[in-house]
Amino acid sequence: MSILIRGGRVVTASAEFVGDVYVEGGAVRLLGERLDLSADEVIDATGKLVLPGGIDPHTHLDMAVGRGLVTSDDFDSGTAAALFGGTTTLIDFANQEPGHSTFEALDDLKARAAGKAHCDWSCHMTVTDMAPDRLPELDALVADGISSFKMFMAYPGRLYTDDRTRFRTYRHVAGLGGVILMHAETGLVIDELVADAIAAGHTAPIWHARTRPPELAAEAIHRSAVLAKLAGVPLYIVHMNSAQGVEAMRRAKADGVEILGEVCPQYLHLDASWLERPDGGRYICSPPIRPLGHQEALWRALLAGEFTTVATDHAPFTTAERALGAEDFRLIPNGLPGVEERMSYLYSEGVVKRGLSLREFVALTSTRAAQTFGLYPRKGTIAPGADADLLVWDPQVRRTLRAADPAIHHSRVDYSCYEGLEVQGGPEVVIQGGRVAVRGGALCSRGQGRFLRRGPYARPAV
Ligand SMILES: [Zn+2]
Repeated sequence: MSILIRGGRVVTASAEFVGDVYVEGGAVRLLGERLDLSADEVIDATGKLVLPGGIDPHTHLDMAVGRGLVTSDDFDSGTAAALFGGTTTLIDFANQEPGHSTFEALDDLKARAAGKAHCDWSCHMTVTDMAPDRLPELDALVADGISSFKMFMAYPGRLYTDDRTRFRTYRHVAGLGGVILMHAETGLVIDELVADAIAAGHTAPIWHARTRPPELAAEAIHRSAVLAKLAGVPLYIVHMNSAQGVEAMRRAKADGVEILGEVCPQYLHLDASWLERPDGGRYICSPPIRPLGHQEALWRALLAGEFTTVATDHAPFTTAERALGAEDFRLIPNGLPGVEERMSYLYSEGVVKRGLSLREFVALTSTRAAQTFGLYPRKGTIAPGADADLLVWDPQVRRTLRAADPAIHHSRVDYSCYEGLEVQGGPEVVIQGGRVAVRGGALCSRGQGRFLRRGPYARPAV
């Protein structure tokens, strides 16, 4: 199967030109201004952009969170929604249960994905329990292509890890060439604030946010950065969402810490007033959406090139599941949907409205995730030998995001965080692994997603 994409503006994180891309056998073979080749299929991309397929390095598909609740997208619907939005690779999470091995978590996740994934995928390993005699598991995981390890400073009694466990893991991962992902919120203090709020009768959704102040995110970023510097490990802060957090990242960078920041569209778009609406429980996530003002601080940092990636933390739960916590915010499952909207949202709000450059758009949505998580240059760029994960992107198409519109909403969740927002720009054709995966509003090839073995961390070069 060969495909020739003709006459588009080909954009990578470091270059752009108008010309042709030739794909054969699942890989990009040739680039040129006018290739004299025939192909099984020719796609006219005149007036369109040709971009590397998106990489979303932060999703939670088919994830059990207790009380019988599971994120509402599995690897079937979640990878379909990703493809419809232009994302051709996901990095999800295998979550170690305390007292159990990380291998069990990996086996469980692979079983959940088996035969279902429509796009390529990998996973980070969430580490909760890392006694010294368990450290060799990390060597085996890196050898198996899992080079990134997530740890939590939040959620005491569940996912929380103490400073000693984190430092021990940091040092070991540093020696393996891996990277640490950090959920940076000071959970022990948050639990005290939550107990106070409940005792005072404050049970509405807004109190979820009020008991998780941004100062506790900034404190956790600082503390984790100090330990990462001592251990010599790169530190990737997931879902950064506050002005104070950005300041903490700046100070750490100035102090020589290898620190990388991820931001998510929901934190750029929503402010805490959404939590005070009658359906406020729909917008609960951790860390929480922040009061008005933080969003512009995040946009300024994004436009200044301070973030490494834009990911989603896609963790959908239905309105009915969220209503379980109507009388007590502690019972609302945390997480927001967005895997399908990520690229269109950032293109429209960033490139079209705020002057984000196309190259930086590609870097934020694809290239730097590939570099950070050991997929580059197989993924994240358009070059001979790279996987043929390509988007023919229509820069003009306008759509209004609505959860009830089956043409643009494929996630198994009954609402959108961007309901009613008009976006400009979106994928017209999505090619994944050298085959057309999405065209004309249809998923054209199913179940071909592969589990990716990733290499070591590489400092993003663009
Ligand atoms: Zn997450």
